[in-house]
Amino acid sequence: MMDVNEKLTKIEKAVLEEYLKKTSSSKRLYERAVNVFPAGVTYHLRWFHPYPFYVSRAEGPYVWDVDGNMYVDFWMGHGSQLLGHKSKIVLKGVSKYLEELGSHVGYEHRLAVEYAEFLSETIPCVEELRFTNSGTEAAMYAIRLARAYTGKLKIVKVNGGWHGGYDTLHVGTAPPYSEPGSAGLPYDTVKYTVTVPFNDLETLEEALRSRDVAAFIVEPVLGAGGIIEARKEYLKGARELTERYDSLLIFDEVITMFRLALGGAQEVYNVVPDIAILGKAIGGGFPGSGAFGGIREIMEKINHIKYTEPQMRSAHGGTFTGNPVTLAAGYAMASYLKENRWIYEKTNELWNNVRREIQKTCCSSGIKCYATGLGSMLGIHFTNTRPWRNEEAVLGRWCDRIYEIMHLYFRVNGVIYLPENEALLLPSLIHGDSEAKKLIETFSKFISEVA
Ligand code: PMP
Repeated sequence: MMDVNEKLTKIEKAVLEEYLKKTSSSKRLYERAVNVFPAGVTYHLRWFHPYPFYVSRAEGPYVWDVDGNMYVDFWMGHGSQLLGHKSKIVLKGVSKYLEELGSHVGYEHRLAVEYAEFLSETIPCVEELRFTNSGTEAAMYAIRLARAYTGKLKIVKVNGGWHGGYDTLHVGTAPPYSEPGSAGLPYDTVKYTVTVPFNDLETLEEALRSRDVAAFIVEPVLGAGGIIEARKEYLKGARELTERYDSLLIFDEVITMFRLALGGAQEVYNVVPDIAILGKAIGGGFPGSGAFGGIREIMEKINHIKYTEPQMRSAHGGTFTGNPVTLAAGYAMASYLKENRWIYEKTNELWNNVRREIQKTCCSSGIKCYATGLGSMLGIHFTNTRPWRNEEAVLGRWCDRIYEIMHLYFRVNGVIYLPENEALLLPSLIHGDSEAKKLIETFSKFISEVA
């Protein structure tokens, strides 16, 4: 009898051969790309073994590569394309404003007011907001605002929490959690950042107790950290603790906003933070998507008419901030979702079923594996126990190489997600039964070959 490792080696050899056969045009593009990009890619997340395929067409829940292979897409523009690729609803919304305003005027316009009104009606914590050009920027300005408002310096974040590339938050994103997450990040930029395990109120309280913390920032469902949902009592507890110790609570809803519900995870969990960070889908899948918003009293710290001295207020700006293209795309997507709220119940049920099916497959095969997440956020983990925090998802793996081999196996079977060393799936809200079935079948086939 072959053991799991031997079986994985055999599977890897076969699927690698198939991938090479199917992707010769991609290979040629990659050979050019390595000369102009570090590692040959525009973003390290988009690289996989032995080279990425190059997409030439995208539509709905599918992408096609330059060799004509079709894939069911579970990455969907980093989770930004909630209505599928090339959504007609979104494109129509954008073209109207492109005709009226062009791509960017740099003045105030009606659309920004209307979309901001929409967001403040829809998102429980938002009374006022400001748009940014990315989730990273939103996080940066939210942290600055929290510090300006509270007069405190420390920020508490979660191990494995990913809020973009802003220095203060680029720490504790992966083990060992005490280290900055990049070279070129001086200790000075992260010395006020404290990291704690997710879903653990005791350590959070320890971190907050000294009352010198400006804010606790947390994704209600860990995204890059493993698609792990907060336990119900965790977010409620975090709300109580931050109030008790005079810190702000910031929800990073870059992934969860519009995805889990129109009002994001704060609506689902019924916990209202002080500030929310937004990105991805709030720009309707168009570039330059980001915003941060919260209760008026805090947001007013940005008001330059009230706080005339720069030293008294929290600064915010940006050339393409509030540009009509991104806002029109986001507004079109959001308005459609508001008119079709039934989508949420259907989608959440679909992916709950998928989680159950994956779990069943794992249990009956004897391969240790766990399906995590909430609604259309799905994580698959080959770990010894069901992960409730990033430590368990990363350090608790019984096998590391199975992730990359599964990724390659999925690819040659017409299913794609990123990154290759974690299985984090972000289907759109228009992915339906047949895409879910394709995923379950491919997973079951893979597991049956491994078991
Ligand atoms: N927060 C979360 C939860 C994210 O997933 C991301 C991006 N994946 C960011 C913030 C940063 O957003 P952006 O890539 O737009 O800067």
